[in-house]
Amino acid sequence: MVVPAARYALLGGSGTGTQGSPEGDGRVELVSRDQVYPTDFGNTPPVTHFRISDDDGRPRSVLFVRPHDVTQATGRVAQSLALFWLFREAGVRRIVAESGTASITQHFHPRDLIIPHDFLDFTRQHGGQLVPGAAVSMREPFCPDIREALWQRSRKFAADKATRVFNRAVHATVEGPRLETAAEVAALARLGGDIISQTVTPDVYLAREIGACFATVQMVLNYAEGVRPEWDFELLRAIVREGAEELGGVALDALLALPDEPGCRCVSYREPAERGEVPTAVAT
Ligand SMILES: [Zn+2]
Repeated sequence: MVVPAARYALLGGSGTGTQGSPEGDGRVELVSRDQVYPTDFGNTPPVTHFRISDDDGRPRSVLFVRPHDVTQATGRVAQSLALFWLFREAGVRRIVAESGTASITQHFHPRDLIIPHDFLDFTRQHGGQLVPGAAVSMREPFCPDIREALWQRSRKFAADKATRVFNRAVHATVEGPRLETAAEVAALARLGGDIISQTVTPDVYLAREIGACFATVQMVLNYAEGVRPEWDFELLRAIVREGAEELGGVALDALLALPDEPGCRCVSYREPAERGEVPTAVAT
């Protein structure tokens, strides 16, 4: 099967998962929909390939993936490995993600948008790198270029929706699928976590391994256990139904606003991953 050439990827979470896919966006030219690719790490999840013009009118080739199945943690890691193998072969250089999250602190409220600058990983280490034994630097794990683009788009979204946006937070990834106890949440807060979900890793370090920039915008859906007396399941459902469905649009608009050439140093932090693994595909 021919690997598509694409420099950009969009990882959908709560927003685009609700909305279906960016193909409903009138600006999108669909190339292929829900294609499953065989890789060295098994089949990818369904991948949609589309083209769209950036803010300067130039075409961008984008691979879009719906939320991973997080009910099986090991399955999620395996899917990420297959997906990032595909991204590497496709020549993906920038990855924008979005998803829902829970607040560990009382400072963030449901419907707030959070653009994390760092992360804590409490998932099991699967040794699941694309290149066995590859070590990558985690300096600036979230690309400052993409975070800035997400910040600008999120501020506009927050003003329209009368909510708030924060561009500094530590995201804690937990294994799942069960949710955390109040004692675990309190421990994560003492360790420096601000928000918590089952996303972000391993994607953030697989992106670094293939030399791609990565950042994410997360919408607070609820408070983590014990942060408030009770978290409100009905409110969470209402946010997913009403607000989060537009989060995918924020991520896509940020992707289109990125300058053609990265001004960041992300790729230089990719050490000492195999130099022979640099993507060769040429794409717009
Ligand atoms: Zn970058």
